[in-house]
Amino acid sequence: MNYCTTYLVTGGAGFIGSHLVDGLLAAGRRVVVLDNLSTGRAENLASAMEHSGFRLVQGSVLDAPLVDELTRECDAVVHLAAAVGVKLIIEQPLTSFITNIRGTETVIDAAHRHGCGIVVASTSEIYGKNSHGALGEMADRILGSPSVARWSYSTAKAVDEVLANLYHRERGLKTTIVRFFNVVGPRQSPAYGMVVPRFARQAVAGESLTVHGTGRQRRCFVHVTDAVAALLLLLDNPAANGETFNIGGEEEISVGELAERVIAQAGSASAVRHLPYGEAYGPGFEDMERRLPDTTKLRELTGWRPRHSLGEVVAAAIAEAREQRDGMVPADAPGVLGRGSPATPPAPVAEDGR
Ligand code: NAD
Repeated sequence: MNYCTTYLVTGGAGFIGSHLVDGLLAAGRRVVVLDNLSTGRAENLASAMEHSGFRLVQGSVLDAPLVDELTRECDAVVHLAAAVGVKLIIEQPLTSFITNIRGTETVIDAAHRHGCGIVVASTSEIYGKNSHGALGEMADRILGSPSVARWSYSTAKAVDEVLANLYHRERGLKTTIVRFFNVVGPRQSPAYGMVVPRFARQAVAGESLTVHGTGRQRRCFVHVTDAVAALLLLLDNPAANGETFNIGGEEEISVGELAERVIAQAGSASAVRHLPYGEAYGPGFEDMERRLPDTTKLRELTGWRPRHSLGEVVAAAIAEAREQRDGMVPADAPGVLGRGSPATPPAPVAEDGR
């Protein structure tokens, strides 16, 4: 995408979105956020609110006239709004599916109408059960039955990608697709049940760390500031037009090893407890052994490298868990299992990185 001055960030009050907004404002851009505050929070945008070039509009990406009006004001769109997280998808499975397909179509269509370039957020869930080592952007998708809720999220995101690609090829829309792998860091919604903040909270509280399944499943984690740095590089790079990029960390670790590492780094006396998938997520849960991104394409185009090591990602999560325990962060802030979430939330529809 070429240099743009005014961005519409859908889902900008969320975890990744709010960090992106901070980055765009710091780079001197103007930003309009459209967010229905379902999993996002206005508090995530506290520092953004102090900028004259910032505006938060509370509303839905399903509201076509509103999306049209806001897109007209902007010259680029970053579409991050999505129904994500266990609670939302269990309570409103159909609405969530519709948000993730119709909402994206509405935003893409408006971007095309107003000549805006668009970045569409996708996910490593796209690759499904493909566990064949480092996954390049052209790797196969291996999915289970559409009746398993997990694959409906993957399918919706795949439809989003297809839409973006077809608008690019047939209608000339400038599009870039980014597939996030296991992004972690401050302001993360508790709805995910993400494994790093959950382990950190358990270790800091002296509770057992619950490892789902065998613990041999392997994952990579990337700090949100590194993920946002990648996004910012792609936003300014015309060669990203029409392309898809993985964004993820490079240090692979099994979930069992991660638990031990969190305990060691926290200096905690917690034990590790294994919970069968069936108990954690209900019957029929399917998982992948390994989820490792190949980020060669992103690196070669932009020179991006993650700056935070896994040790630093874990240390940051422990520090945040301590702040939350000590009441320095409100109990219902993102990253805290507040707002009615159980201590170990079940995740039949898992976002990346359980
Ligand atoms: P998030 O839940 O913090 O952000 C999503 C935002 O979208 C929230 O602020 C929510 O309020 C908003 N939203 C939901 N429905 C909306 C609607 N109908 N209209 C307007 N706003 C709406 O989650 P996140 O982790 O920041 O995710 C951002 C994007 O990245 C999502 O598209 C998600 O699928 C994708 N992603 C994230 C990860 C990760 O590891 N965090 C991994 C893969 C993909």
